[in-house]
Amino acid sequence: MRIICDSKLATLTFVPVEAEEKRVIASIATKLKPGDKMVYGGRKDFGDNREFCDIRLHAGGRKATKTEDNGKGRFTYPIHIGGTELVLHGSTEEDKHEVNRLRDICFFRTGGLVFLGKTKVKGDKAIIITGEFCKLCNKQMVRFVDCEWGICDACAAKCKHNYVFGPVHSKEGRLGEYCDKCGRGKPRIKGKKAKARS
Ligand SMILES: [Zn+2]
Ligand SMILES: [Zn+2]
Repeated sequence: MRIICDSKLATLTFVPVEAEEKRVIASIATKLKPGDKMVYGGRKDFGDNREFCDIRLHAGGRKATKTEDNGKGRFTYPIHIGGTELVLHGSTEEDKHEVNRLRDICFFRTGGLVFLGKTKVKGDKAIIITGEFCKLCNKQMVRFVDCEWGICDACAAKCKHNYVFGPVHSKEGRLGEYCDKCGRGKPRIKGKKAKARS
């Protein structure tokens, strides 16, 4: 899959490359309505490549749970009945990085991606998606930091920050000062030197 990013609109366009991808994308484009969620179904790794992952997304159908007994105990896991499964596999290195980013967005925050509509790229059916919508102004968002906190950059700029100390990003686990309302880290003041010990 080629993944074309429009950072201004905060959208990604999935353009199929392989025949199977073309079939799945055409099916999703027909089944989904704008605003429908494609539900994250976990990672699917190929071969020994640990740097990049493929992810599963479920379009349509319904969610259910399945309970099994493996001899040691019963365990319940989510399954999807019906619908279309898209295995998102980046074509170029750039696309593969994008899939990794989408995995983080889905795993840490959104649990899926939002279908916005269909389009055509060089004669092939393609779909347009976003991560989620800003909880304050409803703008589309597709960057990790925006989605993680549910607040877009424009709204974060207007935030009356309340800085606290803790892990700045759940993904990185870095400690520092960040706002507990919009999640943005406290800007470092240039030229400020640490106090010399006397
Ligand atoms: Zn906003
Ligand atoms: Zn803030």
